[in-house]
Amino acid sequence: MPELPDISVYIDSLQARALGQTLKRLRVLNPFVLRTALPPLASAEGRVLAGVERLGKRVVLVLEQGPLVLIHLMIAGRLHWLAPLAKPPGRQALAAFDFEAGSLVLTEAGTQRRASIHLLADRAALAAMDPGGIDVLACDADAFAQRLRSANHTLKRALTDPALFSGIGNAYSDEILHRARLSPVGLTRSLDDEGMRRLHDACRAVLTEWTAALRDEARASGWPPKVTAFRPGMAVHGRFGQPCPDCGAPVQRIVHSSSETHYCARCQTGGRLLADRALSRLLKADWPRHIDEL
Ligand SMILES: [Zn+2]
Repeated sequence: MPELPDISVYIDSLQARALGQTLKRLRVLNPFVLRTALPPLASAEGRVLAGVERLGKRVVLVLEQGPLVLIHLMIAGRLHWLAPLAKPPGRQALAAFDFEAGSLVLTEAGTQRRASIHLLADRAALAAMDPGGIDVLACDADAFAQRLRSANHTLKRALTDPALFSGIGNAYSDEILHRARLSPVGLTRSLDDEGMRRLHDACRAVLTEWTAALRDEARASGWPPKVTAFRPGMAVHGRFGQPCPDCGAPVQRIVHSSSETHYCARCQTGGRLLADRALSRLLKADWPRHIDEL
């Protein structure tokens, strides 16, 4: 799922292309994508794009004296910019926003239709769609610590909870925890002040560095070329079995029902291998406890 760095760069790119332009037409190419009946589609057309904002992992188009358009990409949704009158790509195209200079097209790979568009009448309706997470790039260390300790969760779960923090998902939480040298299954209320400081710093550093890197990439090609959760420069995410860039030990993973957590045992858990339910059941007593036994 596109996370804060990806969404931020989509927003920058769209602002550069379409800010101040009139949305001439909003074409819904797959009826399931539009989740609201009111305000009507027509109320968005003929309005000037006055702003583009981020709400968690979602993009908000602000139309002058018109509705707010909330675009949720979910896992496989992507945004593209096409020249005026260019044909949107087949069955994957869910909607097209036609501006004077070109069209913003929402696509979704695969067959599951999860990406969505909501038209919202005003800021109050938008606020009702806000899961409530705070922005780690804008909050201070105290607000961060207070949020993290507000419930006792694993660090991985707390970072990715959209009600606690805005825009962090599976990929960047792996990278943040690796940078902070913290275990993904450590508990929020057991984290000492030094660990808290490292985690807050790591959140800011990882998200800022990746946003800058993706922005450079987008600038070079005029639009974010490939939005993916798996990037060659990542330290641990999606790199199971490959060497940790900091210590060389093979990156480990825990498989959940629908996602995977990646970590370096030597850097993050004092060498301890975290029980992977699927694997440990399979291997029973043969499952090594420490990375040195691998
Ligand atoms: Zn390591």
